[in-house]
Amino acid sequence: MSGIRVEAPARRRISAHSHITGLGLDEKGRAKIIGDGLVGQTEAREAAGIVVKMIREGRIAGRGILLVGPPGTGKTAIAVAIARELGEETPFVIMSGSEIYSTEKKKTEVLMEALRKSLGIKLREVRKVYEGVVKELKIRRARHPMVPYLTVPVEARVVLATKDEELTLTVPEEVTQQLLEMGIRKGDVIWIDAETGRVHRVGRTREVEGARTYDVETKRIVEIPKGPVRKEKEIVNVLTLYDLDMIYAAQRSVISFFGLTFEREIPSEVRRQVDETVKKWIDEKKAELLPGVLFIDDAHMLDIESFSFLTRAMESEFAPILILATNRGIARIRGTDIESPHGMPLDLLDRLLIIPTRPYTPDEIREIIKIRASEEEIALSNEALEKLVEIGSKTSLRYAVQLLEPARIIAEERGSSRIEVEDVERARKLFIDVSISTEYLKQYERLFMK
Ligand code: ATP
Repeated sequence: MSGIRVEAPARRRISAHSHITGLGLDEKGRAKIIGDGLVGQTEAREAAGIVVKMIREGRIAGRGILLVGPPGTGKTAIAVAIARELGEETPFVIMSGSEIYSTEKKKTEVLMEALRKSLGIKLREVRKVYEGVVKELKIRRARHPMVPYLTVPVEARVVLATKDEELTLTVPEEVTQQLLEMGIRKGDVIWIDAETGRVHRVGRTREVEGARTYDVETKRIVEIPKGPVRKEKEIVNVLTLYDLDMIYAAQRSVISFFGLTFEREIPSEVRRQVDETVKKWIDEKKAELLPGVLFIDDAHMLDIESFSFLTRAMESEFAPILILATNRGIARIRGTDIESPHGMPLDLLDRLLIIPTRPYTPDEIREIIKIRASEEEIALSNEALEKLVEIGSKTSLRYAVQLLEPARIIAEERGSSRIEVEDVERARKLFIDVSISTEYLKQYERLFMK
């Protein structure tokens, strides 16, 4: 399976939490009742705020977090909020404990990949670029080689201007294509990477006044670089250790990077090489380590071998922030006969700060449903909202939120753009909650036994 496809379910899972932008705390670290998309669960959020501080101050090493609470009490939501607090660039990997049981890879390999996907490297690079305001853009076209009545762009002449200089560049087809795709036109401030030919747009300008230009789209003032048009620019790129593993492995043609044949594991030799290179970059101040968050839901599904692997990984030089979540109390540690709190070995538990989450009140459920409905651009009548609150309180918040989309479609089929109680009720009949579905099967079993 290709690396890209492995990521897809995780992205979907994160999109359920797209309304969360942070922990919603005030300056004193107190949780606002509703803040940054989060509702209630105030103590857990305040505890998470302290964790974020520890991470920022580099005082989390060797420790992890365990979120403990009944299903659907926002454990994932809080982990997402922690990642958001740490910044846009922070890698966030979300997986379930059961994902280690794959037929293609060893359990520790699955975890190793997840760990490396959650470790970011911020690379600083100085590149030579051409930068300025587009004063002229002429595209030369030629007849298509196969289809004579079509023309295709082959190259472009770009005149870039700063305050007192002008530079005429003739750019090849590939760059021309980018200029066209990006809709670059006169008055845009752009820069073109002298080596790779990649085009970047800084802003769209209307006027050039002295050394200042006005960005029409954002109304920001954009400084035009003085001096030679060709200048050095610092470029910051964030890659993960996993990306580097893939690049190195592809270079050694161990695996095919974009091919769908990627079933083999990345050799440890490649990882060693990547680690050494990264260490060298860090020493030379070319790169910075950006530890991300690895969130493992249903962590009680991991087994003893995985737990020891994670415990060791937490101590290594390159370690992400590990957040585990579980809804189990005392349970058997998988792969052993030992019963232990949360089904986890004690030496791991010793390193975890435990944060509890509690079930939501109907008022909290109402606010969360409202936020999700607006995030998904779904209109609800008051009665429909109250119906969902009632359902959410009886079953689970997740079930109530999941009914939104089917109910919207049911309303639409009825010719309405707003969900009414009847739509919620129909959705609930068609898509049952898990406690009802198990009950249903139990009744069937009884029938079959007769
Ligand atoms: P858990 O991980 O504990 O099972 P969860 O975080 O996955 O719970 P769900 O039950 O899946 O939560 O939540 C359904 C929806 O409600 C998701 O969109 C989630 O982001 C949102 N949600 C959960 N808790 C909160 C909260 N405290 N504030 C705002 N939104 C929340």
